[in-house]
Parts: sequence; structure tokens; C-alpha cells
Amino acid sequence: MNACFSQASDSLSPLRDNVSGWPDQDDPPALPAAASEAKRPRLDKGASGGGRPHFSPAKRLLFTCILLVLVFGGAELLCRLLGLGRRLEVAQYISDWHQSPDGRRFWVIRGNGYNQDGMCDRDHAVEKPPNTFRVVCLGDSVTAGHGVAMRESYPSVLQTYYDQLNLPVQMEVFNIAVSYWSTLQEVAGYRVIARKYQPDQVFVGFCLNDVAEMHNNLQRPPPLAARFLANNSALVRWLVDAEGRQVHDVLELFKQPSSVAVQNGWQLVFDELLNLQADTRSDGCELAVLIFPFRFQLEEGAQEPVPQRALFRFCFEHDIPCFDLLDVLKPMGPEAMLDESHLSPAGARAVAEAIVRWGISGCTACGYDLTDFGGDRCPRCQAPIRRENK
Ligand SMILES: [Zn+2]
Repeated sequence: MNACFSQASDSLSPLRDNVSGWPDQDDPPALPAAASEAKRPRLDKGASGGGRPHFSPAKRLLFTCILLVLVFGGAELLCRLLGLGRRLEVAQYISDWHQSPDGRRFWVIRGNGYNQDGMCDRDHAVEKPPNTFRVVCLGDSVTAGHGVAMRESYPSVLQTYYDQLNLPVQMEVFNIAVSYWSTLQEVAGYRVIARKYQPDQVFVGFCLNDVAEMHNNLQRPPPLAARFLANNSALVRWLVDAEGRQVHDVLELFKQPSSVAVQNGWQLVFDELLNLQADTRSDGCELAVLIFPFRFQLEEGAQEPVPQRALFRFCFEHDIPCFDLLDVLKPMGPEAMLDESHLSPAGARAVAEAIVRWGISGCTACGYDLTDFGGDRCPRCQAPIRRENK
């Protein structure tokens, strides 16, 4: 650190030498006799100066500019040398909506392999057939089935499992999910696409990167000039704590759960979930949240599931059933995932099976399997158990 300081002051010294022409209180440069004579009457008239040499306004402006450039240039150099205001990379799995296919806040995908709604799903009739129970799965690439065949996404597998059960009603599962969507787009997806199909049950898939996406994309963008400075100056980034205003990766949800950025991200997610709850309620449709873990949470000795607990607590307080799939996928270990956040075919099958089991023998609030449990309250979330449904 000291080396950096001395390096910085060494590198500044040639710059200081360059301003040797700057007037010094103790040692004013002597003016040529003729010039001193010419200036004297004006100095006598002037209020200040006190015998200091006079410079034209243009020169003063020039000196001021040079001084400002030197001060800010030196401070910028020092920041860079000390690593202050260093730009931190935002993790690739945190989407930037400005890079969405059409540059807007809501988008679907048109083309081969996508249905009439722009979803990676089969076509559905708008009119609900009689004796049919419609299940909509809202989400991002995890629900859409990134990296696996369409029939291997968890909503497709869910449809297969329901079909095999020969239930007295026809179950119809919809996959309404697009890569890079976050809670904001999922709620819009309910309004724009799902609603017209009159769903009976909506599952909204939450992924840990949603908090970062909601905060980073929805925080008020700085004015153009400020954005230019923050993009190009370590000094400005350090002064305004630009890096502290973003969430760079999901680990911040575990390590800095009370930071302003993380708290704001959660609040934005919660607000959207309440909007979705209001919409589904007014449509007479059930809403439940599914929490998908990141792969590092499935490894041995993983840290405490701080984000899962935060969302679970919110859902419980607002009477929104919430199924934490960490419990389902943890026994499978990293095999449940293809990469850091997407389900492998085996992981998708485990999720679909758990959702079916939730409907048959799970706690209505948290999905905990109550098959062999005789108590009155769920041992996991303490919700009263409604036996008549089980
Ligand atoms: Zn429960």
C-alpha cells in the first residue's frame, strides 16, 4: 500500500514541476521593468492584489484549468493505483434487460420451436375444455428448460406425470417462461399471456438471480453525463460508490443480505409477487412460489440458505404457498443441475415429481411430504394441516 502511495507521488512530481510558472506567495517572479511600469496604475486602483503580479483573465483561466486537470488527473491516477472504484464484473447469469431481443422490459421469442405465444411449449386452445384443470408454470430459463429438450423441461415432465396418474380431471400444463425473464416479466407474462387461458393454478419459479436482476435493471438510471463519468472514471465510481449500487452475483444474497442493493432487489421481487397474488386471486386462481436453488447450494457443506429463508418468510406472512426445491434437489447433489442454475433432466424429473406429491400428500403451505406424519401442524413450516384435503 505504501509502495503504491510513494509510486503515486513519484509519478505526480514531474507534473508538479510543470507548474513551476505558477505564482508563489513567497517568491513572486520578477516582471520586466517596462511591464511593471505599465501595470502599476491598475494595481494601485485594484482592491486586492497586494503587490502580486497581474495576469490577464485568459491566463488565469488557463492556470485554473491546468490546476483542475492536475488535481483530478492525480486523484484519478491515485484511485487506479490503489484499486479504489475498481469496476466489478456482474455475473453472466444476471441478465441486463437492455440486451433483451427487442430492448424492452417484456419480450417473448418468435420462430421455430416456439408456440403461438412465443413460448417453448406446445400450442394450447384459448377456450378451456370441460373438466380440465389448467396449471401455468411461469419462470425464466430454468422453467423454459434451457439446455435440455422441450420434453425434458420440468413443466413437460409434470404434464407426463399427471397423464400417467389417470386423474378424474384432465390436467393441462403450460410453460410460460423465457430466458432472462425475472419476476417483473413473469407477472407481465401472467397478464399478457396466461390470463386468457383461465388457469386454475399458477406456479411462479423464483431463482436467486432474480433479486439482482430486479435491482440492477430497475434502479433509477443516472443521467447521461453521470453515467459517462461512472463508466470511465475510477475516482467518480469510488466517490459515488457506484459498485455498491449493483448486485454482482448471488453470493451477495448470502454474505450481504442487508445491503441497500440486496434489500431493494428483494423489495422489488416482493412487490411483484403481491401484484401477482392480487391478480390470481381476482381471477379465482391459486398461486404458489417455487424456489430453485443454485448448484453450489447442492454441494457438501454449502452455506445456510439465507435467500430461501427470506422468500419463504415473506410467502408465509402473505399466505402464498411456497415450495423450497432445495430440499428436493439436495439429496441428488450437483447431478440435479446442468450448470450453476439450470436443471438437468434428472433434476427436472425430481421437481415435477415433488410438485405432484405436493398436490397429493404435501403440506399446502410448504410442500413438505406429510404421508407418514400424524400431527396437526406441519413440522417444517408449522402451518395447520387440513386433513380433509389429504
Ligand atoms: Zn409446511
